[in-house]
Order: sequence, then structure tokens, then C-alpha cells
Amino acid sequence: MANNGFFKRLIAFLVLITGVLLVPAAAAQDLIVSRAMLEDKDGTLTIRQVSSREFSPMESTLSEGYSNSVYWLRLQVRAPSTGNAVVLHIGPTLLDEVRLYESATGSPKEWLTRVTGDRYAYEDRDRNDIALGFVVNVTSPEKTLYLRIKTTSAYQVTVEGLEPQQASQKAGQSTLIRNIFIGLMLWALVWAIDHYIVGREAAVGLFAVYQGIYILYGLSVTGNLAPFVPYDFPQLADWLSNILACTAPFMFLLFSRALLKLYSPPGLRGLTVFFLAFPVQMAAMALGYTMMALGIGAAITLAGAWYCVALAFTARREQVPSRRLLQAMYVMLAVVATLFVLTDFGWTTLIGTTSKSAWAMLFGGIINSSLICTMLYMRLRQLRRDAQQSTLSLALSQQALEIERAHKKQAETHARTDYLTGLFNRRHFVERVESELARAIQRHEPLSLLMIDIDHFKAVNDTWGHSAGDAVLQHVAHLIRDTLREHDILGRIGGEEFAAALVCADKEHALAVAQRIRSTVENAVISLPKGQPIQVTLSLGLTQLQGQDATLDDLLHKADEALYRAKQSGRNIIMTT
Ligand code: GH3
Ligand code: MG
Ligand code: MG
Repeated sequence: MANNGFFKRLIAFLVLITGVLLVPAAAAQDLIVSRAMLEDKDGTLTIRQVSSREFSPMESTLSEGYSNSVYWLRLQVRAPSTGNAVVLHIGPTLLDEVRLYESATGSPKEWLTRVTGDRYAYEDRDRNDIALGFVVNVTSPEKTLYLRIKTTSAYQVTVEGLEPQQASQKAGQSTLIRNIFIGLMLWALVWAIDHYIVGREAAVGLFAVYQGIYILYGLSVTGNLAPFVPYDFPQLADWLSNILACTAPFMFLLFSRALLKLYSPPGLRGLTVFFLAFPVQMAAMALGYTMMALGIGAAITLAGAWYCVALAFTARREQVPSRRLLQAMYVMLAVVATLFVLTDFGWTTLIGTTSKSAWAMLFGGIINSSLICTMLYMRLRQLRRDAQQSTLSLALSQQALEIERAHKKQAETHARTDYLTGLFNRRHFVERVESELARAIQRHEPLSLLMIDIDHFKAVNDTWGHSAGDAVLQHVAHLIRDTLREHDILGRIGGEEFAAALVCADKEHALAVAQRIRSTVENAVISLPKGQPIQVTLSLGLTQLQGQDATLDDLLHKADEALYRAKQSGRNIIMTT
């Protein structure tokens, strides 16, 4: 059930995104007819110098955006079909400063200059979109504009010329798509955190961290992080996004290591080699070799992704989800990573033409997150099932253990008690009294021993039958037990013979107890199973521990003698030694 819910939600999201993407976008026609570029390495050239120099023609991605440099872009913009306003969209927003030069006769130095950038106040920024921009008036059929772009960013710079209405439509649409993408990514993040808290599966926890970093990376690349960076540290936004760009592949590899570990592929240790590149990247970045650091990151992403594919294909253990699914997932991830890296370096135009990095980031992220979430979801489901099963078998084995314990206890009880009266049997009585005797001797405490025999019991059996005799035995046993204290030891030591060890009882005390037993039984009316009332009497022999060298045999022997004398004296009497 939960399974269905998960996939339904996932599919619903994907359908939603596809829907948004398929909504026919306003045919955003780029009004820039030609682009050319000039790199100003020292950043010292003036507009006058530049306007007379040779520019090299460029594609729509105006610069490879590679690091601390000033780029001059010469744009040929044609007039729009309605009105004469043209919105120049410049991306990304990580650019330090963008100057627009329009030739204007009459203005100082004959050039009209405007400035924008995320470190500067600007008027013409379209607030619906994160792109920087200017609005220029193109009154002649074509107009030449110069942009001076100062950047420390490693991301590609794009410029488009759009009619205002198209620009705002486009901005609205891309904002919507971006928000949906980011929402999805966040959903995957929350999902992973939630499931990590419940399941504590390392791969899920690492995926959560990876996803978190990836989202921050995405936000920074699309310029959404820049507004939160203090103006006093102008390079912080770039620096942050570069750090995140370097960290994300490593988090991916960490996560993969945890996941692949479950399948025990032989080359798993090899993944560790990739982690060595991380400090190298950081050092390169610290020394200002940003592009080198990012290049290493791209190489790690590619090599790492395909190495994981190799690992998935050499997996030794069969796990849930299956190896086949694992392999399919890693092939997909590697393909996406490859496209992403190629796109980022401008080697393929498979993913859009504007802000390629950002789009590749978002698409790649969604595909990766969905694949990984699906995989982890299946794994967690299996873990839950396993847990349920083991809880069940644990409960079962606990039950079995309890039954066994009960059996054992019962067997022990059987071994030491008399089945008919529930009193100690002879063997156990002897054991208990022996230890009690040893203690009494050691502590110089008194101990008395009573031997009890039912009078003319044979006659009961003969008259009323054996089962009536049993009932009498049980009843008498009860009466005696109730007369004694908790810690006195009572046993049935023969057919209708009982013995009691009276702990800490001297002769006087023991005699009183014996009297009580005798009179209690004498006065008791026992009703036989068939309802007939019957009375029996007891003869008792009593002896005590005297001196410290007595053995239990001695005591039993003496009590027996006393009992014999009681029988001789006419029964229903107590004799002492
Ligand atoms: P006395 O007063 O001299 O003790 O006479 P008695 O009949 O009690 O003694 P005797 O030893 O002659 O007989 C004991 C009888 O107890 C013999 C036996 O059948 C009976 N008996 C022994 N064990 C059991 C038992 O578990 N159940 C029943 N119903 N009778 C038993
Ligand atoms: Mg008897
Ligand atoms: Mg007897």
C-alpha cells in the first residue's frame, strides 16, 4: 500500500513537471542578431579603445565565464516588432559588475553608461527573475551595444534580447519551473531525513546530506544564494558555490559507498582514491586555480559515476533491491552526470541553450533524486519487512523459551514434591533439612524434628477404598502445613508418614506445635469424596538437636523411636526423646 502511495506521488510530480515544460512558451525571439567578444585580461581598456578593436564572434553563450577577467561583449540588437524597448537578460547573477555602453551623441564622452550586478544597485533588474538585466531603447532598425562584464564566476554568461512582454512571461515560467524543481529536491531531502531518523540506514543519511548540499549548490549556481551574501565579501557567493560544486560529487561518492557496500563489490575500496582529490581541489581553490579545482570536480564526477557503474556490475551479493536495479540506476546516474559535465563545459547543447549549467543542475538533480529515492525506498521497505519478521521470530522464540522454562520448572517441582500432597518428597526433605541442620549447628540455634504417622490408616483404605485414603492423606497434609510456620520444613517421607523440621524451635516450642497438630487433626472432620465424614488421629515422635555433632540420620532415627513408642502407648499421642 505504502509502496503504491510513494510511486503515485512520484509519478504525479513528474507528470506535473512535464506538463509545465510542455506549456507552449511564448515564442521568445532573441533580438540579438550578432555577438562578439573581446577579453580584457587586465581590465584596463576603456570603451573608446575597445570600440575600435577586433572582436571575435561568439555563440549565444557569450563567454565560457572562466574566472577573474573582464569580458567585453559587442551586441547587435534589432528593433522589436512592437514598441522599441528591448530587455537584455544577463545570466547568471553571480557577475560582479556589468556595464552597458550605448553610443549617444550629446552625452558625456558620447557614451551612455549604466551599471548593474549583484554587488551594485541597479534599476533595470527584472524582479521576477534572477537574471540581471537592462532595458534599452532600439529606435533604429539595429543598434550596437557594448557590455563590460567583470566576473570572478566560473559559470557561463548568457545574454538574450527579448521584448518586455516575452521577457516577463519567460521569467514567470522559469521561476515556476525552478520552484517546482527545488520543491521536488526538497521533498527528496525531507523524505531522506525522515527515513534516516526512522531507519538509521547509513546510505539514507548520506543521501540526505548529499541532497542538502546539492540543493545549496543549485541555489548558488542559479544565483539565489547571492542576495544572502554580505556585500563586504564580494567573492563569497562564487567561492561558496565553488566549494559546494566540489563537495557535491564527494557526497555522492560517500553515499554510493554506503549503498554499494551492501552488495560487497570487490573494488569498493577503490572509491576511496577519489576522496584524495578533495583536498587537492580545496588547495587549488585556495591558491586561486578555481577552474582547475572545478575541472578536477568534473573529472571526479565523471570517473566516480562510471566507477560506481563498474562496482554495480561486479556486485557479489544479491540484495534488495536487486543488482539489476542497482546497475540500471548507476548507468542512468552516470549518463546524467556525463551530460551534466559536458553541458557545464559547453560541449553539448542537449539541455537547453540558456543558463545551461543551471538547467543541467536542475534536471540532473531531479533524475538523480528520483532514482536514488526509489532505490532507497525499496531498500527501506525490505529492512522494515526484515525487522517485522525478526520481531515475529523473536517473539516466537521467546515464547518457546518461556514454555521450556515452565517445563523445566515443572520438572524440578515434580522432582522434589510429592504428587499427592504437594509436600516435599523424602529426598528433597532430607536435602533441605540437612542444610538447615548445618546452619543450626553453626549458629548454635535449636532445631526440632517431628515424625508424624496416621493411626490405623490401613483401616481407612480397607473401609473406604484407596481414593478415600488419598483424600485423607491430602487433607491431613494440609492441616499439618497450616499449623506450621512458613520456614518450617514439611515432607511426606513414607506412605502415611510425614516429617517436619521446626526451625529455631526448642523442645518446649516444638512440643506446643506437635500438640497443636495432633489436636487439629483429631478435631477435624474430613469429608470423603463421596461425602462421608471421617476422623483420623496422629501419633507423633519428637526429638531435638542436642550437642553439636548430630546428623540428620541420628535425629530421624530418634524421632522414629519416639513415634514407635507413641504407637505402643495407644496412638493419638506425642512422645519425645
Ligand atoms: P498404624 O496406626 O500402626 O500406623 O497402622 P497403619 O494401618 O496406619 O499402618 P500400616 O503401616 O500397617 O499401614 C499403612 C497403610 O497406608 C498401608 C498402605 O496401604 C497405606 N498407604 C500407603 N501409601 C498410601 C497412599 O499413597 N494412598 C493410600 N490410600 N494409602 C496408602
Ligand atoms: Mg499409620
Ligand atoms: Mg506407617
